[in-house]
Amino acid sequence: MLSGATLGFVVGGVFGAQWEDPRFGFWVELIDLLGDVFMNLLKMVVVPLIVCSMVVGITSLGDLRKIRGTFGWTIAYYVMTTLLSVALGIFLVILIQPGVAASTQIEAARQMPESLTWYEALFDVVRGLFPQNLFEAAAKGQILGLIVASLLFGGILTLLGERGRKVIELFDIGNEAIMRLVRLVIWLAPVGIFGLVATKIGSAGGGEAVWHELQKLAKYALTVLLGLSIHAFVVLPILLSVLGRRNPLRYAGHYTEALLTAFTTASSAATLPITMRDARVKAGLSDEASGFVLPLGATVNMDGTALYEAVAVIFICQAYGIELGFAQFVIVWLTATLAAIGAAAIPEAGLVTMVMVLTAVGAPIEGIALLLSIDWFLDRCRTTVNVWGDTIGTAVIDRTLRPPR
Ligand code: ASP
Repeated sequence: MLSGATLGFVVGGVFGAQWEDPRFGFWVELIDLLGDVFMNLLKMVVVPLIVCSMVVGITSLGDLRKIRGTFGWTIAYYVMTTLLSVALGIFLVILIQPGVAASTQIEAARQMPESLTWYEALFDVVRGLFPQNLFEAAAKGQILGLIVASLLFGGILTLLGERGRKVIELFDIGNEAIMRLVRLVIWLAPVGIFGLVATKIGSAGGGEAVWHELQKLAKYALTVLLGLSIHAFVVLPILLSVLGRRNPLRYAGHYTEALLTAFTTASSAATLPITMRDARVKAGLSDEASGFVLPLGATVNMDGTALYEAVAVIFICQAYGIELGFAQFVIVWLTATLAAIGAAAIPEAGLVTMVMVLTAVGAPIEGIALLLSIDWFLDRCRTTVNVWGDTIGTAVIDRTLRPPR
């Protein structure tokens, strides 16, 4: 996978200037196709995987008390780590001040997302928990709704005694079959990852153009990257060793495939099949933990996104010369956490929910235009941290599920 990614960087970086040249049209389209097939395969397995693993996950947790306990701990852990990462982001952006003296003279290239108040955004999340049409939710990738429906269905099956068992077994077998399918997808991953990376860098104009864009926003990008690094390399590993009692280095080694996929697809949801497989097969986590905690984490737990939203919003305020007081920082802290919970696990979803944080502190929504040119890159980095955070949460919860020795 790493060689696929490297080759992608090289091909996209070197030939980026010729990406639009019609003479190379065939090759450009072919490389694009390789990435698309990989991405589509991942998306193809993700819906049945979530449904099967959630149904089985909830039933294998056994009695209602255990389910409630696990659910409660999972959510508490996820919210706590998200709050922690936002606090880190706020601290760094105040310290580094990347937005001071940044130019606000950038044309808005894309249409701005609509403005939402914090409660509208929150209510939207709640609304998404109860989709009126399961197929529509599946088609649109509204994972939270699918999770709730599967949990309810699985929970009811446990009440049906022997007949319910039969159906549960069916889902269990489905789960296993999908896991085998995932193995096949992973086998194709190096080629797919090559296609995704080469297309992204190439269509952005090649290595030089990307470097140029990054330099324009270097201080802001570095603040985000520094925050993400501290969270990923210091905060989360400490939590893993203290609460999950695992060696962080060895544990990270189990997830190289998942983390690389997160970086190249920029989607926690598309990465989920690979994360789940790594958790089960390589890290040896229980089916209950990987089947239940990971899918939930993919949609609700986004430490990287939360940190990035806080940095981005305060960066915009600094660039526009908007002074923020203590109360406003607290608002950013809370709304960025909410915005990350509400963000879909798809590329650049964080940009959309950021509107809510901006409105909450009275910052201009057009400020988002300042960030657009390099968001695709930061999106990949934060998605990788999101997935890493999910895997650590799963290890922590996994430990609570094991009988004390
Ligand atoms: N792409 C991110 C994810 O899937 C969400 C975001 O921050 O835009 O985890």
